[in-house]
Amino acid sequence: MLESKKMSATKTQLLGLTQAELISFAEQFGQPAFRGRQIFASLHHNRLREFAAMSDLPKQLREQLETLATPASLTVESRYLSADSTRRYLLKTHDGLPVETVFIPEERRDTICFSSQSGCPLQCSFCLTAQLGLLRSLTPGEIVEQIIIALNDAYGVGQKPPHGTNLVGMGAGEPFLAFESLMKALNIIADPKGLHIVPNRVTVSTAGIVPRIKELATMADRPHLAVSLGAPTNEQRDVLMPINRKWPLAELLSACKEFERSLKRGERFTFEYVMLRDVNDSDEHARQLAKLLNRHELRVKVNLIPHNEAEPLPYHPSSRTRVEAFKSILEAKGIPAFVRRPRGQDIFAACGQLAARREANPIHA
Ligand code: SAH
Repeated sequence: MLESKKMSATKTQLLGLTQAELISFAEQFGQPAFRGRQIFASLHHNRLREFAAMSDLPKQLREQLETLATPASLTVESRYLSADSTRRYLLKTHDGLPVETVFIPEERRDTICFSSQSGCPLQCSFCLTAQLGLLRSLTPGEIVEQIIIALNDAYGVGQKPPHGTNLVGMGAGEPFLAFESLMKALNIIADPKGLHIVPNRVTVSTAGIVPRIKELATMADRPHLAVSLGAPTNEQRDVLMPINRKWPLAELLSACKEFERSLKRGERFTFEYVMLRDVNDSDEHARQLAKLLNRHELRVKVNLIPHNEAEPLPYHPSSRTRVEAFKSILEAKGIPAFVRRPRGQDIFAACGQLAARREANPIHA
């Protein structure tokens, strides 16, 4: 037992390696480069999670791989299906930590919302994930695997999705505190010989990790950016999103301006504003928000997200008429605003509801 445990600890985890890294892995044990490419395609294009199923590879090679490497590291603990067809996956890492992924079908495309951390260290008062605290950041492989699991479940193993897939890094955790993992995962996910979901189809949301926003502004081949504002003043943002004490609004918005200046054609950048009834949703808040964005000369659209309730959070969503009034004030000041429709609320799959909730009604494999 001890012996086999020791061996598995030294096995190479193949998800999270780029195609080039898989080629050198293959070469290290005497295989030609094309075997590395085949393994990459088996994992990412055919989305196979067991060596035994990789029938493109000679049997002997599969057996050799069994002793040297692992093709998957997450296990599916349960799946939940919403009345609106959204699916939530509660996954578990090899070291027993929860990871959640949400699959959101839409008419002409699907969106997969992935997590970048197990739990989250930021203590946004309106978000249920905060209550888990940070367990750890996910590895590149654990980010890639979430996409593979969701696509296989929705369409069948290796089946081509019938339409485009968008990704959003809006699940549990703060993506910009798992920056290296995230960027490496996105690079692997974009590979045309694999999942082939390019950065232009990916949006990553941050609570405002300023140095990373500035870094993103200098990068080529980057995902779209969304920044969660949540409040129009430092006084209120300090309370709702304590990360604001480290990087207050003036610093955050000047980094956003820097990012905006770096936008190329076709790139998007949005703000998100969670709407909490009687907390941050008055006409005055809308005017303050418009003034703030205009002062920083940010002509960026704002997505308004009515709060998704989750016991024991002490908040409620703003009413429809309140959201509309808030939206009109922003628009009158020249700021495009859109109201986000919540998805998967009934299965704890909506924004801010991911907290490894186990429920009585999972669907079975
Ligand atoms: N940590 C990142 C990404 C995860 S949260 C970030 O903060 O941006 C994704 C979005 O959901 C954020 O805009 C966040 O403000 C919003 N959100 C969090 N809790 C929510 C809730 N209970 N209801 C609605 N939106 C929420």
